[in-house]
Amino acid sequence: MSSSSPTPSTSSAERRMSNGKAKPKKAPPPVSVHFLGTCSGGGPIISRQCSATAVDLGNNIWLFDAADGTNNRLHQSSLRMVNISRIFITHMHADHILGIVAILGVIMSGVGQSPAGLERLRQAGTLKRPDINIYGPAGLRRLIRTMLECTAITLTGAYAVHELIPEGGSPSAACKAGDLHVNEAQGIDFHPNDQGVWENIVDDRPTRGIKGWRVSAGPLIHRVPSIGYVLTEPEPRHPLDTAALIPLLQRNAEALAELDPPIRHPLSLLSKMSSLPPPKPFKLPSGDVLYPPEPTGEAGRKLVIFGDCSGGTPNKAFQRICEDASLLVHECTNAAIPEGVGKGEKGRLVRAAGLEQSLEKKRDHEFEISARDRGVVREPWVFHGKRGDTEKRVAAEDEFAAKKIAVRAKAQSRGHSAPEDVGEFAAAIRARRVAVNHFSAMFPSPRYVSNDPFPSLLGPTSPFPYPTADITAHAARLPPIPLSPNELHLRLIMQTIANQISAEWNGPHCVLHGVDEPEPHLVKMAVCSRDFMVYHVPSHELTSEEIRTMANAHSEANTVLRSWANSGGVWTVEQGKQTWIGVEKEPAPTPAGTPVPPAVAGAGA
Ligand SMILES: [Zn+2]
Ligand SMILES: [Zn+2]
Repeated sequence: MSSSSPTPSTSSAERRMSNGKAKPKKAPPPVSVHFLGTCSGGGPIISRQCSATAVDLGNNIWLFDAADGTNNRLHQSSLRMVNISRIFITHMHADHILGIVAILGVIMSGVGQSPAGLERLRQAGTLKRPDINIYGPAGLRRLIRTMLECTAITLTGAYAVHELIPEGGSPSAACKAGDLHVNEAQGIDFHPNDQGVWENIVDDRPTRGIKGWRVSAGPLIHRVPSIGYVLTEPEPRHPLDTAALIPLLQRNAEALAELDPPIRHPLSLLSKMSSLPPPKPFKLPSGDVLYPPEPTGEAGRKLVIFGDCSGGTPNKAFQRICEDASLLVHECTNAAIPEGVGKGEKGRLVRAAGLEQSLEKKRDHEFEISARDRGVVREPWVFHGKRGDTEKRVAAEDEFAAKKIAVRAKAQSRGHSAPEDVGEFAAAIRARRVAVNHFSAMFPSPRYVSNDPFPSLLGPTSPFPYPTADITAHAARLPPIPLSPNELHLRLIMQTIANQISAEWNGPHCVLHGVDEPEPHLVKMAVCSRDFMVYHVPSHELTSEEIRTMANAHSEANTVLRSWANSGGVWTVEQGKQTWIGVEKEPAPTPAGTPVPPAVAGAGA
């Protein structure tokens, strides 16, 4: 076929050549959030390292906080450290930053730079281009420079520290020629806009490789200045119809090479058309016009990653930027745990008396009304247990309500959050997914074999001192060990925290999200993160598979918590055999002789 063939379609020079007729749907690039350290400053503890979270954008890893020990966690994970291109620090507390220089040393070979290499870096002075960009509050530049100087580490590359200066503040150190560390490139001092937001501190739209993600930041309430980061993906676009475009470009090859300036590689126009921001249409010598790919109409993903804070952000403009998060990562340092989940004497007494507390009876009543108004049947999020006599039950409920208020007040007084703070903020910004971290050292991590956010509560246990799925990648090929009552107890504690958050998040004011299944807002389930947990964010909206997973997790949690609250344990099936996992004696078999089902497949809202 030659360009002279009189086909009617080529008669229109305005024919849109970017998209095929069928507009194939392009799978969004993978994005996953790796929780590498989930303990608060009271740690580390055996099962949890202090704060570090990695966002894997496919070919680039962005690290959020880097506590002491983050190097180890990175090595133990499936992430490749050389792919770390940016480090974001939320605040200057030790449990968030002490690992940063050690990480620079590994990524840029801290064993030392040759004298000639050092001289080259020194000569480059303020003209150095950073290999790693570091963002954080004022103080970070001085800290890293001082640590490098005092430890005599020389790196093979260059880093830059960009400080986010509060209104009226100033940077911790200057970046003039004489100020910089030999490995340091000039950093930027970011000042907030008139609404108090550090807007677009990363704007990679013209850059290939990072897929155009942008980052803005805003202030949080903590004991020292603390920062929340919002990562925004550009809106997804249809793929170019390369099957149609490549022959067209090849037909134009000769004419393109004669242009001024010449285009010697016609296929380079394909990547040019896909670049961001979208370029202007390009008219080929044949008269056909190349257009950049059109938006699919779907929203890009938005990751909201907060530092330590006492619930959300005080800045309304920043809160608006956080709205409609695909995933909210928020701290949850403290939580009140109902006595009935306990495995000790008090838990036994609570169970024996049938006094399992309602987590929040009044609010639960609101949910009922809301569900009825929507014409759906609501399964309670939080198990309320069997009813003892009314007076004692009300007293127990009051006691637990008071405990929750006290825990929340204590958390807030220290600049931290309780489950209600997280749930309220998640509802306010209509978050699609929620994961919490930064747990008090009194909440050891369960040891799931799986790294999934929603593993079965009754699944086997990792034999490692830290929870990880990828056993073969570590010391040995040890088989997972069966679930024990102690491990199940830890899991139920974390599950009740997730339930408390979810109850607020799924509350009456939560707006229905645009997903294709009925009432998904009633099955949204928060996740208590653990070290090595990986949360994949496949798209902005929850996929039907994710909704099914959450519904199953919800159903299993209800079943297991109910059984534990009534009988102090649960029946599970291991290798075809019924096993009682509990802190109470095994109850008499049910008349039907069937164990409690571990999960109900396909359970809907
Ligand atoms: Zn902290
Ligand atoms: Zn802190």
